[in-house]
Amino acid sequence: MDFASIFFYDTTWAFVFEILVRCVVMYLLIILFLRLTGKRGVRQLSIFEVAIILCLGSIAGDPMFTEDLPLIQAVVVMSVIILLYRTTTWLMMKYQPFEDLVEGKSCYIVKDGMLVLEAFKRGNMSHDEFFSEMRRQSVEHLGQIRVGLLESDGNFSILFYPDEQVKYGLPIFPDQAQSIYKVKPSVIYACTHCGFCTELHQPLQDCPRCSCQDWTQAINSLRVG
Ligand SMILES: [Zn+2]
Repeated sequence: MDFASIFFYDTTWAFVFEILVRCVVMYLLIILFLRLTGKRGVRQLSIFEVAIILCLGSIAGDPMFTEDLPLIQAVVVMSVIILLYRTTTWLMMKYQPFEDLVEGKSCYIVKDGMLVLEAFKRGNMSHDEFFSEMRRQSVEHLGQIRVGLLESDGNFSILFYPDEQVKYGLPIFPDQAQSIYKVKPSVIYACTHCGFCTELHQPLQDCPRCSCQDWTQAINSLRVG
């Protein structure tokens, strides 16, 4: 193995200087083009925007150190990408169905303190993912949530019940949500699959909403803080 070849090959000082110039120009161009996307930050990128960033990134890298790649070609490519991006965002603003197609739709995960079954059937998200997100937002059980929406960028929006309207709900911390094996009278139980709450006569009763048979004791604690 020829280490000199791996590290230096035919690099000349002149080309090192050229790399320096190319990097500075490309760096400034990347900033300029990112400004042209109109985005103010990158905290919440949709899948579509991540694709644009990846495109820009791979276009920007090569011209920094490829001898026979004139910078103007990179500028043309980046301009076309930005133009496409701006056209797409404009179309998305004009036509709702187009936006749903590109960005995905937001969907209800919780309504009236119970899970929306269709949301989980569609497979957008698992119970575990959802519960961990709820825990992060200091939710103790589903009875505290009036509406839970999964936004198209993957974030959650939650509307809570006011304290006096909090009802019995499915606990979402694992130690509270253990399956029960016998039932006590006048205790409220929650279906672990859909969050439906009711009194039970026997442990393996069908849930009237989702016909699952796994129950846990429901709680109705209020939100703290
Ligand atoms: Zn159920």
